[in-house]
Amino acid sequence: MKNLPPDSLANTGPRGSADPTPAWFAEAASPHHRLQWKVRRTLYAADSSYQHIEVLDTEQFGTALVLDGILQTTAGDEYIYHEMLALVPLLAHPHPARVLVIGGGDGGLVREVLRVPGVEQVVMVEIDQAVVEVARRFLPGHTAALGDSRLTIRYEDGVQYLSHLDPSHAFDVILVDATDPDGDGPGQVLYTTEFHRAVRAALLPEGMYAQQSGTPVYNPEVLERVARDVDQEFPVCRVYWCTVPTYPGSLFTFTMGSLGPEPIVPIRRLPEAATTRWYTPRVHAAAFALPPLVAERVPSRVAAAQA
Ligand code: SAM
Repeated sequence: MKNLPPDSLANTGPRGSADPTPAWFAEAASPHHRLQWKVRRTLYAADSSYQHIEVLDTEQFGTALVLDGILQTTAGDEYIYHEMLALVPLLAHPHPARVLVIGGGDGGLVREVLRVPGVEQVVMVEIDQAVVEVARRFLPGHTAALGDSRLTIRYEDGVQYLSHLDPSHAFDVILVDATDPDGDGPGQVLYTTEFHRAVRAALLPEGMYAQQSGTPVYNPEVLERVARDVDQEFPVCRVYWCTVPTYPGSLFTFTMGSLGPEPIVPIRRLPEAATTRWYTPRVHAAAFALPPLVAERVPSRVAAAQA
């Protein structure tokens, strides 16, 4: 989970001058640790109705989307996070016909969702249309599937969407790919007990839910809170992890809730011809093996079930 927008020193050009194209983009993982990426060019920078949107051309990871000073995704390493957030739930679910994505405006998650066998309808509820439009312009690899006829995009708050969802339109799988709960960004409302209750009510029998729950290195309290809430709302709660080079601490977690199927075991596979760069069935299972650093931050019955 990323936090603390960059300080004023970060986004300056050579010799500290106030320059629209910073020599380095910095993000504070904590008050004591900053990550920096060398920037070739600022491709876009503007305020939307919800957040400050930047697109940076970085030397190391290529094009990067930054929201309110927090790096969201890069062309260079996005596949890890998107494969793991999409393929773990969808290949553990027996028939993920209807999938809801809340957030995900860069398009990477729905691209992964739409290539899973059995997916018939995807609804992406993204609060900020400007993010989708910017992603279409600058992140073609992420947005390659936004024209898929099975996809419906709704521009509204995920909490509002669930509040007026007709129960007959429930989902097999719900994935939350939103900005972090800190600060005053739009993502805060997606990390509350009320929200997790609304998610459960929007799931069909055997439904599954997954969301990013940040890095236990810098923000263990987010993982603690999400895992506790999901464990209270769902009969099965599981936590899994991967490493994302551009996220602070690299170690990154996801929390899942299930109304039935066991998330740890992939019961389906991608077609033989499908290529992945991080996910494999064995990586799927191994991702649920929790190092003590993570296990100590989740409810004991979750840690015991994954020991
Ligand atoms: N992979 C990134 C991460 O791990 O932080 C998330 C990327 S995606 C760009 C995050 C999206 O969540 C943003 O486009 C943002 O507008 C959207 N978002 C934040 N709060 C939301 C809400 N309440 N409802 C719907 N979308 C929301």
